Amino acid sequence: MIIIKSDKEIEKMRQAGLVVADCHEMLADYIKPGVTTLELDRIAEDYIRKQGAYPTFLNYQGFPNSICSSINGQVVHGIPDNTRLEEGDIISVDLGATLNGYVGDAARTHGVGVISPEAQKLIDVTRESFFKGIEFAREGNRLSDISNAVQTYAESFGYSVVRDYVGHGIGRNMHEDPPIPNYGRPHHGPRLRRGMCLAIEPMINEGTYDVEVLPNDWTVVTQDGKLSAHYENTIVVTGKGDPEILTLRGNQ
Ligand code: MG
Repeated sequence: MIIIKSDKEIEKMRQAGLVVADCHEMLADYIKPGVTTLELDRIAEDYIRKQGAYPTFLNYQGFPNSICSSINGQVVHGIPDNTRLEEGDIISVDLGATLNGYVGDAARTHGVGVISPEAQKLIDVTRESFFKGIEFAREGNRLSDISNAVQTYAESFGYSVVRDYVGHGIGRNMHEDPPIPNYGRPHHGPRLRRGMCLAIEPMINEGTYDVEVLPNDWTVVTQDGKLSAHYENTIVVTGKGDPEILTLRGNQ
């Protein structure tokens, strides 16, 4: 069941979303060669708690940390550890914050130092595919119109769209209905309505869309070892006009 949020609830989603947006912006300055993903996790957790929020990922279904840090061929759900980022890596950081009972969820992919033009292009196309998708996040459309727009854009560059992991509704819980694939035929699925809060999160691979889970039961990697990028925001459908992006400030 898709839970429609009232204006009062959307205001709370907005507050939670800004904690996430600002945390990403703050964290970006620390993403440099030599930093460990565990250090990034600590910095993010401290920041979120200082805002009076709770890092939603921590202990979520047993996840041990506050951010997911996924490097290069890791797609999502990478566990922070003592791995040091190296010049030329790309890293996806996914994080959530719960404030006054409502959740914001967003992901960004960063280059570490100087990265290859190919890696930068994957990051840019992944980000842009989100914006192509949310063009359709308005009343009168159906959910898969978003999915199809993401897929069409990403595949036009020869990239593939991960099938096994999808976006989701969001509110009091991080994962609510509906699941939101980043692929599929248009004009299917639920009709979009004002007050629907959605986490749209393209996961785009350089090579095959096939993925596998490492023996730690969390980290998802590309089967062919090629790069993967992730970009996500929590949005709210406002009506027939533009959706509002709740986890973005400025131009991240
Ligand atoms: Mg999400």
